[in-house]
Amino acid sequence: MREYIKVKKIKLKDNFTVEYAIEHSEKLEYFNEKMFVKYEEDISNVPESILVIPLLSNLFPICWFLNADLHVNELDETFYYASNNIKDGFQKMYTQIKMGGKVIVNKIIKNSYCELDSAVLFSGGVDSVASYINNEDKNPLLVIAQGADISLEDTEGIELATKEAAEFARENDTKLISIKSNFKDFIKGSKLAGNFDDTISHWWPCVQHGFAFVGLVAPISYIRGISKIYIASSFTSVSDFRIPWGSDPRTDNEIKWGETKVHHDNFNRSRQDKIKQISDFVKRTGKHIKLRVCWESPGGSNCCKCEKCSNTMIGLMLENLDPKEFGFYFSDDIYNHTRKSLLEGKWNFIHDDVDLWDDIKKHVSDSDEREFFKWLKSYDFKDSIRKYNTFSNKLRRKIMKMNEKIKS
Ligand SMILES: [Zn+2]
Repeated sequence: MREYIKVKKIKLKDNFTVEYAIEHSEKLEYFNEKMFVKYEEDISNVPESILVIPLLSNLFPICWFLNADLHVNELDETFYYASNNIKDGFQKMYTQIKMGGKVIVNKIIKNSYCELDSAVLFSGGVDSVASYINNEDKNPLLVIAQGADISLEDTEGIELATKEAAEFARENDTKLISIKSNFKDFIKGSKLAGNFDDTISHWWPCVQHGFAFVGLVAPISYIRGISKIYIASSFTSVSDFRIPWGSDPRTDNEIKWGETKVHHDNFNRSRQDKIKQISDFVKRTGKHIKLRVCWESPGGSNCCKCEKCSNTMIGLMLENLDPKEFGFYFSDDIYNHTRKSLLEGKWNFIHDDVDLWDDIKKHVSDSDEREFFKWLKSYDFKDSIRKYNTFSNKLRRKIMKMNEKIKS
């Protein structure tokens, strides 16, 4: 018998929250709990064929990668046909894995609604802020989806991120739509990735996140008539280095349902180009922007110490901007902290991090007289990978870990 996942029940818990029940063949034991999505708007009039999309955006890739069938009662016609192209997109990225699986549907339904708006998926980071600026003329709605990079338990983090996104929306005369879901946690990502040891290190970043984020917007797009959803690129077409990633033009641009299409946005700009775009926007409009880039500190603020925070602060400083005006509150000398962390191999560098630093390096002009940037231009970031992995560093980290264990 073929492996399968079946959508068993779609239940509205109240007019704002949808909960999904699934059943699956014994082998596909990859789920922790029931998936739910909570909206701020009444979704009771959204047809089942659209309401099922947030769930399917997470289940489809599992079925394709594991050659399992997906059984569903009703499905939007456009989404049904688009799914083949999304699958092809994943196939182009993951050439070592043979994509399989069929979708078996009882009723295919054509959904139409008026096209009124566009929306940008918004996290408050460099990519999504630049994506908003890129589409400023369309006055897009901002959609913040919680439950992934900030966990649902981190209420303080969720509150702060939502508050800052709402401030951004207010300052730009648009509306913020907030969505909460356990879409990341409901899947056993490490167990799934374990099937593809050589090619997929983590399920969420490498496969799940792009389609999953976009899919959450489906019910809202029906209510509000959203014709275009912009998801900001994480990588860029101009980069030398690209790895298969869960958000990529080859998959994102193929996602569509009803009257809604998706665009993988700003792919032609590197991260430093996006910082430049933000810099130009701030200079032109005088508006305030708080960036939220840190994945290391709970509570939704920037730690100002980690590699991601430092990379962003240095990127801002290269543009002669003060990081303190962009949500980075620090007392250290950023130049010294960054140089020391790089030279001592304190940050765990992987290749795409090197790519981001090389991007900053490329943007340093020959006439820049600042001592730090002169040094940066001559630094080989691959040294930081080597230094992080030296024997003494590994030992130091082991001892620190043991000490932490003893203390806790
Ligand atoms: Zn940080």
